[in-house]
Amino acid sequence: MNHFLFAPPTTPRKAPSTLRRLLVRCPATSKLVATGETIEEPLWEGTAKRTGKFTCPHCAKVHPWVKKDVILAR
Ligand SMILES: [Zn+2]
Repeated sequence: MNHFLFAPPTTPRKAPSTLRRLLVRCPATSKLVATGETIEEPLWEGTAKRTGKFTCPHCAKVHPWVKKDVILAR
């Protein structure tokens, strides 16, 4: 376990932002899709349950997602 929730590592970027984009993999094409949502990473770590859905640009279907499907990206 190596989670530093309140001490984000230094980054080469100008602002030490912990804001992350939520990406989900399309089950039909296996491509990553941005859900359009963002969240602070410490908040995400503390979230027990989170769900949503998005219209997929790759296969044009609506995919529901749960927390374990999500990949956080800068
Ligand atoms: Zn899709």
